[in-house]
Amino acid sequence: MSVGAVDITYRGIFQKNLAGVITKELVKAARHEDKIGGTVQRYGDSPERNGIPAKQFSVIADDADSLRVEMTKYEPSNVVVVAVMDDTLTKGVESWAWYGVRPINLNLAPGGTLLVISRRSAEELLELIPRREYAWNLAILPGEPSFGGLWVYNDDGTDYRTMGAVSRVAGDLVSLDSLLAQAASGQDGELRAEQLREGHDSVRAYPVDAGVGAEDTYEPVEMPGWTQMREGLVIPAVPVGETNPLFKKYTTRTARPLVKFDACVKCQICYTVCPDECFIPTPEGHWDIRYESCCGCGICAQSCPVTGCIEMVDEAVFDSNEPLHGVYENNREEYEELRQDKLAKAGGPIPHYGIF
Ligand code: SF4
Ligand code: SF4
Repeated sequence: MSVGAVDITYRGIFQKNLAGVITKELVKAARHEDKIGGTVQRYGDSPERNGIPAKQFSVIADDADSLRVEMTKYEPSNVVVVAVMDDTLTKGVESWAWYGVRPINLNLAPGGTLLVISRRSAEELLELIPRREYAWNLAILPGEPSFGGLWVYNDDGTDYRTMGAVSRVAGDLVSLDSLLAQAASGQDGELRAEQLREGHDSVRAYPVDAGVGAEDTYEPVEMPGWTQMREGLVIPAVPVGETNPLFKKYTTRTARPLVKFDACVKCQICYTVCPDECFIPTPEGHWDIRYESCCGCGICAQSCPVTGCIEMVDEAVFDSNEPLHGVYENNREEYEELRQDKLAKAGGPIPHYGIF
């Protein structure tokens, strides 16, 4: 008797349908090997909201009893693959109702594979992914995060490419042949087969030894019992000028606003439009950003009247949530160097970020 799981970690709204297709099709493909499976979801907030880190699992077993035991658990054990749909999620995920950020590879079984869709190198990703006490594998499927936008399913082949990659790194759980057989039984069989093979052939795996990776600075998350959980749908009020200490939404971010304070005309519009009260007044009239509370919606960058004053920059190039105006106050040239360095590492600002 054996059972294994594939964890699809994704961003709410944009990738919910993508995760749903992958988890269900993996289970259906496993039936071609006389296995049995089910799917289960975990999320920190409604996965219908922008950028929310969330998980869907395929649980695949050799027999019904093994599956039944596994499906009674909060989260499946023996997760042999964690597939990450957006590489900014490697900075940590909050898949339990804002109770704390956890490492992306926390539940990965020893010897398992963290499969990331990314244009980054293994070295770059290992600067973000914390080390483990056991050896594991990092696999990279070349590609951009697939953002369907709102509830729409973006049929760009990411789902079938990912499944093909899963069959390459965990062929014992579900094979490429089974996926091809399953795809042939549905619509667009030839196209799906092509995408499966492309994902299978283009994924690259890198063994990661125990102790290799970023320093693990994550605080252990204490999960409350059901009688201690906070009330749902209640956001406690806070005094003007403060932000809610319980509602830190930075793990939803794929990009963050970076301000060119020298260009700021101190109009206060960013402060007025920010839905999360992230902007902090400074004595000289600029508006600093409390990044812990910023969900990365981009509204401030769209609303700022000065071109290039607030730019949205890939979240992966930042290593701290500390506000940055203090650096500017101490040394304006140093701040400009920092800003340019982040922009260069990110390949420039993300144009037209947000909702238009
Ligand atoms: S991106 Fe801008 S407007 Fe949106 S939450 Fe962050 S600081 Fe506020
Ligand atoms: S909207 Fe732009 S110009 Fe206005 S205060 Fe904010 S950063 Fe400065």
